[in-house]
Amino acid sequence: MQKLIVGNWKMNGTSADIPAIGKIVQAAGGHKSVDSGLCLPATLIERAASEFPGFAIGGQDCHAAEKGAHTGCVSAGMLKDAGAGMVIVGHSERRSDQGESDADVQGKARAARGAGLDVIICVGETEAERDAGKAEDIVLGQIDASVPDDLGTGGLAIAYEPVWAIGTGRVPSGGDVAAMHDAIRKRLIERLGQGGTQVRILYGGSMNGGNAAELLAIPNVDGGLIGGASLSADKFEPILAAAARP
Ligand code: PEP
Repeated sequence: MQKLIVGNWKMNGTSADIPAIGKIVQAAGGHKSVDSGLCLPATLIERAASEFPGFAIGGQDCHAAEKGAHTGCVSAGMLKDAGAGMVIVGHSERRSDQGESDADVQGKARAARGAGLDVIICVGETEAERDAGKAEDIVLGQIDASVPDDLGTGGLAIAYEPVWAIGTGRVPSGGDVAAMHDAIRKRLIERLGQGGTQVRILYGGSMNGGNAAELLAIPNVDGGLIGGASLSADKFEPILAAAARP
């Protein structure tokens, strides 16, 4: 399966950062065996999509409804209209900051696929949940409740992002990543049938140029969702290079 490396810019970036995006687009062009893209703040999507046609631009969230009285929210169709080809849903920062439930995330994923966007559904345990030995139960529970089972598997990816690894510089052991990705794969196949073998499972949480090769070599790690190290080509390119290695 071709690896997928997606940057999540979170609440970073203004029009002054278009040249930085351009450098990332250029770096991605040097690694054509890797699928890559950037999920940008909604305010930058249209500009980036028109400046860099052919490069995958995405959003970081969408509303479950098509339109209506939801002040400040953005629908999946609006992201698509602005030039996005994908969207992240259920990021742990939204689950904690905005109190999004698994049911909310499922609704957003459904709306995204309905609008023709690829969707990356994020799951992951907190440190307390891992310490209590509950990591796998929590993550598989999120898969069961967040992933719609009636939409097909095309355009669907899962990002396993331990909450305690995001932005902290801490990364689970290779064995723990392997065990979780295996468990997610098994659950996807149980729920979605053979199509579950084709869903890319990304690892996210402090991936960088120094640890990407090791993480991406783990079976069932089909790519990465990258926060801090996606903000500049200098940091993002080594991850793309690691993903390009056979
Ligand atoms: C993320 O927030 O999706 C993420 C993986 O962040 P970081 O790479 O900065 O840990």
